[in-house]
Amino acid sequence: MNTFSVTVLGSSAAIATPGRGLSSQVLRYGPELFLIDCGEGTQFQLRRFKISVGHINRVFISHLHGDHFFGLIGLLSTWHLLRRVKAVDIYAPPALEDILKMQFEASGTVPNYPIIFHPVTAESPRLILDHPQMEVFSLPLTHRVPTTGFLFREKPLPRRINPESIDFYNVPYHSIEALRHGKDYTDATGRVIPNAELTLPSPASRSYAYCSDTAYNESLVPLIAGSTLLYHEATFMHDRIKSAIEKGHSTSIQAADIAEKAGVKQLLLGHFSARYDDLHPLLNEARGVFERTMLAEDGTTYPIE
Ligand SMILES: [Zn+2]
Repeated sequence: MNTFSVTVLGSSAAIATPGRGLSSQVLRYGPELFLIDCGEGTQFQLRRFKISVGHINRVFISHLHGDHFFGLIGLLSTWHLLRRVKAVDIYAPPALEDILKMQFEASGTVPNYPIIFHPVTAESPRLILDHPQMEVFSLPLTHRVPTTGFLFREKPLPRRINPESIDFYNVPYHSIEALRHGKDYTDATGRVIPNAELTLPSPASRSYAYCSDTAYNESLVPLIAGSTLLYHEATFMHDRIKSAIEKGHSTSIQAADIAEKAGVKQLLLGHFSARYDDLHPLLNEARGVFERTMLAEDGTTYPIE
């Protein structure tokens, strides 16, 4: 099975702190690296945590608040200086395309690699990437500007081979791949052996939901139901629910409530207000609602399994 994990590069809200950078994450699926959000300082965090920048081929930007994209032009310029030739696909709010154009033009830079821009609007959930092994959907979030989260969902995995029945029926090696994809096997005498006798059910598909920034919104629940790992912002503790509502953010209890209602396997809290040095009270509060909660920490990799 492919490695599937997420590394947090920045877990702070709006303002960076000495221990927490601005929003950015690297999602790893097999050999592929996807960058999710790119706050200022992201390229330094990538170097600091020894992530091979050149392997990132796709970038997803949730919204156009500075703490989620001000690092992008820096990273794109660095790729140009490193003589990157491979294309980069960017999935982001439509206005970002002109912003990047203007920034490149003003600095007299013509990137020596193609940038393929995919505008993502926040009105309704949509399939935005159909990758051979994964589907990526946009998730409309509730914030002060149009914002989308992202759901990365592995496509159904092939069935597993049952080695004993393969031996028993003497299935040749070249017929095995078809069995993984559900085909029956016909032997040399013309007898058909049903697939179910030769294989075991496929492992469950894994998924990662990224929900930042957003106010509490229950319409997210059916879209992210059953996710393996949910990253949900928890800018404030619940005593600041008034600020959360005013600013289009969530509290730790609200994030846990969404996780509980969506029946996800694990919850990762992030996008913490710079006012908190110690995040454990926030974690404890969330765990009162949803036990399988973790705190996002810069430089930590969380397996999605
Ligand atoms: Zn933010």
